[in-house]
Amino acid sequence: MHSLPFEQGPIRPVDEADSLLIRTTRGCPWNRCTFCSLYEDMKFSLRSVAEIKQDILAARAYFNGHPFETCFLQDGDSFVMKTRDLIEVLTALKAAFPSLKRISSYGRAQTMVKKTPAEMKDIRAAGLNKLYCGMESGSLQVLERVKKGITPESIITSARMAADAGMDTTQFIILGLGGTELSEVHARETARVLSIVNPDHIRVLTIGVKPGSGLDRQMAEKEFTLPSETQMIAEQRLLLENLTGITSHYANHHSVDLLLEVRGTFPQDRERLIAILDRFLSLDPETRIHFILGRRLGYYRSLSDMDNSFHHRFVEEQVQKIRQTHPDGFEQIFHDLRCRVI
Ligand code: SF4
Repeated sequence: MHSLPFEQGPIRPVDEADSLLIRTTRGCPWNRCTFCSLYEDMKFSLRSVAEIKQDILAARAYFNGHPFETCFLQDGDSFVMKTRDLIEVLTALKAAFPSLKRISSYGRAQTMVKKTPAEMKDIRAAGLNKLYCGMESGSLQVLERVKKGITPESIITSARMAADAGMDTTQFIILGLGGTELSEVHARETARVLSIVNPDHIRVLTIGVKPGSGLDRQMAEKEFTLPSETQMIAEQRLLLENLTGITSHYANHHSVDLLLEVRGTFPQDRERLIAILDRFLSLDPETRIHFILGRRLGYYRSLSDMDNSFHHRFVEEQVQKIRQTHPDGFEQIFHDLRCRVI
């Protein structure tokens, strides 16, 4: 593949698949979360406004009038930029791509709270109208244990500032992040904070522990115990049960999530979503293993996909093979398969 005449970072949110990607910073200014190895080998740096503007012009020439409607600013946190620099970049971006309707970025709570409400409004007025925030958990205990470097208070304050400025906000949460030890507090506190924040979108991710990551070391030292797939669905049920007064769109939307069909809008879809989780939890253990393996191997997306007799037969053959060779190894296999997609 030929390289682009402008710089690109390594990742973008799932919802930004068709977006123009413009890199404002390299890496993550925090880079200490034990569950994250996205930027582990990358030193954080700000890019100069001149350099970013050059990239915007290069992108405009390269895409030759393509009418992008969405743009995502990479990498980990554009809010570390000085407000006037960020506004200059946004202004240049809108001038070069007048068809843009949405410009988005990741935003760290701890960085955003350093801006004033007036600065947030100016940034919004310059064009940044969507934020992706990795709150991951609403529990201080969980956030501290995974060294996230943010607090429930900063999550709430930054989310309010963004909402007051008129930005659309997505909050990411991670199932299983509390391990088995803190699963309940993780679910309850995450529900509490989300119920206060009422983000426009809640996006679910499921924990996967990368070899060599900080969380992997915490696991080896018995500080963190990975929950099973079923425990994480039970955790999600507790979370949904405790979400109150919100109007968010809630979605399991990443290929790492087990039950992709658990997506809908609160409050009207709440009971339907809980019913899907209950349907999974009420399966007999053998069928649950069958479904999880089929899902992790990519044959199933929803529970009713088990009705496909051709796929069912194939998946069941794989289940039986594993039973013969690794009868106690299913959870490890599920986790290994999950880690392939993160
Ligand atoms: S999870 Fe986000 S804040 Fe934490 S290290 Fe990764 S990119 Fe940085």
